[in-house]
Amino acid sequence: MNETAHVGPGIEKRPSLYVVATPIGNLADITLRALEVLKQVDVIAAEDTRVTSHLLQHYGIATRLFALHEHNERQSAQKLIDLLAAGKSVALVSDAGTPAISDPGALAVAAVRAAGFPVVALPGANAALCALAAAGSAAAHFLFFGFLPQQAAARRRELEALKALPYLLVFYEAPHRVVASVADMAGVFGAGRGLTIARELTKLFESVHRCTLGEAAAWFDADVNRIRGEFVLLVDGAEIDDASNGEDALRVLEILLRELPLKQAVQLAVEITGGARNTLYRQALELKKTASPDSRE
Ligand code: SAM
Repeated sequence: MNETAHVGPGIEKRPSLYVVATPIGNLADITLRALEVLKQVDVIAAEDTRVTSHLLQHYGIATRLFALHEHNERQSAQKLIDLLAAGKSVALVSDAGTPAISDPGALAVAAVRAAGFPVVALPGANAALCALAAAGSAAAHFLFFGFLPQQAAARRRELEALKALPYLLVFYEAPHRVVASVADMAGVFGAGRGLTIARELTKLFESVHRCTLGEAAAWFDADVNRIRGEFVLLVDGAEIDDASNGEDALRVLEILLRELPLKQAVQLAVEITGGARNTLYRQALELKKTASPDSRE
């Protein structure tokens, strides 16, 4: 623990909004500080008051609740501000995990900040990070996407936009769409890409399965239980050294080759586009073969 670290479970003197992460399955996945804050605040704004009542009952907490969900977030944000202005402290929770991550909360937090009240975030459970921790991926970078569009055409368009990114892609998906979404991923990204299916994390039937996008349909088909529950899908990023360095990189290379020797053009193209040197070098040689007679080596 460094010098600035402190252990303080309680709430601030100034009325503040506490954004509190709650469990994603296992009720024990809640921090000591979260429990203390939920106990001490005057009121809790909850996505679904019935879901949060269950958690509060489990921990013997009797704090009053009111609803703040995606359909009333704007009005409820004003209610939060009114409570803070009246000197009350408020906690904000969603049904599971971290509020504002594919959940309501961001609008309310922004409104409270804009009104000049402190916002204190309490870290805790989050399905995406839990899946990343369980997957053992060697990827240095990841991109959190959350939910894809429900409509197939819009979903494929989004996937096309992600296709060339060299980052591990993290998706949330509902059980009734998981098979269709994975099929679309295989269609757009190619069947050979690696996939980790993290299901029911922290719960009784937790499973983490690794396969390729092309193998996933048969895996889901083999057991109806495999399409039940909650899912995080982790899809390997595009190979940085594959043939798809991207059309932009090729265009940059073409222009540089008109004016510069091959090695220098490749070096600059790598620096400008971040593309893979081997691929750009190979492409440069191919371009040279078809280049005009006055192009220089
Ligand atoms: N705010 C939450 C968080 O911090 O992770 C996410 C809320 S979002 C509405 C719910 C989605 O998160 C589910 O559809 C699923 O994709 C993912 N999820 C939540 N709990 C999960 C679990 N226990 N195992 C796997 N995925 C889960």
